Amino acid sequence: MPQFTLHTSTLFNAKQKKFIKDISVTVDSDTGLVTKVYSRNDAEIPFPDTLPGGDIDLRGKFVMPGFVDAHTHIFLHSYDEASAVQQKRDESMAERIIRAVNHCRKALLAGYTTYRDLGSESMQESDANVRDAIARGLIPGPRLFVATRVLASSGSYESRTENSMGGHCLPAGADAVDGVEEVRKAVRRRIAAGADVIKFFADYRRRIMRSPPAQQHPYISSVLHPPKEPNPDYVVFSQEEMNMIVSEAKLARCPVAAHCCTLEGAMAAIKAGVQTIEHVYGVTDEMFSAMKETACIMVPTLAIAEKIHSAKFTAILAQTKRAHELGVRLACGGDTGTFSHGDNAREMELMAEAGIPIEDVLEACTVGGWESCGGDLCGRRFGWLEEGTQADIIALETDPREDKNALRKIDFVLKDARVWKQEGEAIGMI
Ligand SMILES: [Zn+2]
Repeated sequence: MPQFTLHTSTLFNAKQKKFIKDISVTVDSDTGLVTKVYSRNDAEIPFPDTLPGGDIDLRGKFVMPGFVDAHTHIFLHSYDEASAVQQKRDESMAERIIRAVNHCRKALLAGYTTYRDLGSESMQESDANVRDAIARGLIPGPRLFVATRVLASSGSYESRTENSMGGHCLPAGADAVDGVEEVRKAVRRRIAAGADVIKFFADYRRRIMRSPPAQQHPYISSVLHPPKEPNPDYVVFSQEEMNMIVSEAKLARCPVAAHCCTLEGAMAAIKAGVQTIEHVYGVTDEMFSAMKETACIMVPTLAIAEKIHSAKFTAILAQTKRAHELGVRLACGGDTGTFSHGDNAREMELMAEAGIPIEDVLEACTVGGWESCGGDLCGRRFGWLEEGTQADIIALETDPREDKNALRKIDFVLKDARVWKQEGEAIGMI
């Protein structure tokens, strides 16, 4: 039976940012879409003892649209297990793809029905291939929107070692390009290679990655080798190059995400017209007002900041709260992969810890995620439930307004009208 209905007693309406009562949602497994959302009046028409075949009773649970993680890396596993350099140097492509398959399954079971995957981390265009394998039903996983290789200027986003002699002895992490014409070509290359989103580095650490005793992740500064900050972030593209990236991507109706760890990089990226800025530290109200003017979304990646920027983490939480107060659009993306896939909810927990109301956090992790994928440019609607949106529905066991661990208690997962988890157990996975 292609159509069936999910019955809820508490449903989060992500557009209204409200929990609403006694709603049923009919979905179509042929199209993967929601066909109808309607209110029940259980007082007048008692809820039946036996449901029609295929219907699912989610009453008593906290139901909402599937989560969207707006900043992930499917090919990375936790830096606590191995640094980015070790993963790129020591793990075969086959191993990394197999890990990605596991990561995608874990993410789906954690309630994440969409990933915006911002860079394949030396795996070339394999992210687009994994995306297509999921879409073709070969493996379970979130719907992926991928960046393939990130754009960066020469030498800026590479694992720079003391033996690289200015070249690269590790698989290249980026599409390294310089100059306005080259970045134009690179955007065209990325789109042709399967990118759904263009990601570029506005700034990055530009020195050798190993400052004694060792420096990749976490950042450990040296006591012996000046300067005080051994490997600061500096802008890596000129304003003209950033402008070209955005204007060329626009021709292909492709959104652009910019990695920005400095205010200078962020201001240039916002000026260029990027859709989202990732990370960003040391911000100002002036930057937030520039973001509002261009409807730029902030993806604060608190979950990774908590791990690698512990010294300034209180300030990072405070600036995220400030962004929210000023009405800057937020999306939830943890830089997942640098910590374990499946623990994605850490980003939402930290947003709540920053003082953002849970309803706004849930909205940032649903509708905000869709917008960060380009909104209607991405060709699908997800993150809320109405006729024609993707049938991505999850149920939490407990109320996230009362239980701060609720976002990890995923009882039920439906993606594209297919059930992947029910009563807390995986379904249909080999
Ligand atoms: Zn990232």
